[in-house]
Amino acid sequence: MNILIFGPNGSGKGTQGALIKQAFGLAHIESGAIFREHVGGGTPLGKRAKAYMDKGELVPDDITIPMVLETLEQRGATGWLLDGFPRNMAQAEQLYDAMHRQGMKLDYVVEIELPREVAKNRIMGRRVCRNDGNHPNNIFIDAIKPQGDVCRVCGGALSARADDQDEEAINKRHDIYYDEKNGTLAAARFFKRLADQGETRYIALDGQGSIESIQATLLGALGLKK
Ligand code: AMP
Repeated sequence: MNILIFGPNGSGKGTQGALIKQAFGLAHIESGAIFREHVGGGTPLGKRAKAYMDKGELVPDDITIPMVLETLEQRGATGWLLDGFPRNMAQAEQLYDAMHRQGMKLDYVVEIELPREVAKNRIMGRRVCRNDGNHPNNIFIDAIKPQGDVCRVCGGALSARADDQDEEAINKRHDIYYDEKNGTLAAARFFKRLADQGETRYIALDGQGSIESIQATLLGALGLKK
């Protein structure tokens, strides 16, 4: 089973991706995480990538594409969930060509749809509980709104992560994601057209629902009723 997942920062892609990965026992191939491993390990690739990552820009395709395609070959034999790649048209086309060459099938493409303004609010609305970082609180999501100004789960003090409040950085990432001409949504549309031709199946999810309702829709669409 090979699956691609798309969704802007703030859409809950990580949560839904974890569910898919677990349901099918897939290798989670996440381009951002591979880059972070290289940076942490101080490899030559990591050193080249770091400057772009620090600025919130895409790492150039001549570094990114071979790195991801190699990882797919090495770790993807028993099925994969590809996350964070492709992010532009060149990446989409080269992924498609590489899969063709290797006789790999793309079973599903999942897109979590969320209007840009909502995605931005969700990121800026996140609050972290001092007692437990896994207590979800968000001032813009009714289901997990803090109790006044303390954690809705335990009453602990809340704070915002500095990078969640960096509006410029959020806008930069969303500029790339929501670009339908050459950005990540263009890559998603490329696979949507393949689905229209019967080459894969496309699952579009409304990211404005609750985590549980999105999960239920997703599992149903994947043929795995909860
Ligand atoms: P992420 O964790 O997905 O936000 O990725 C962290 C950083 O890694 C991004 O801001 C980019 O600099 C880089 N990166 C991850 N995936 C890609 C990709 N598909 N193309 C180019 N750069 C990427």
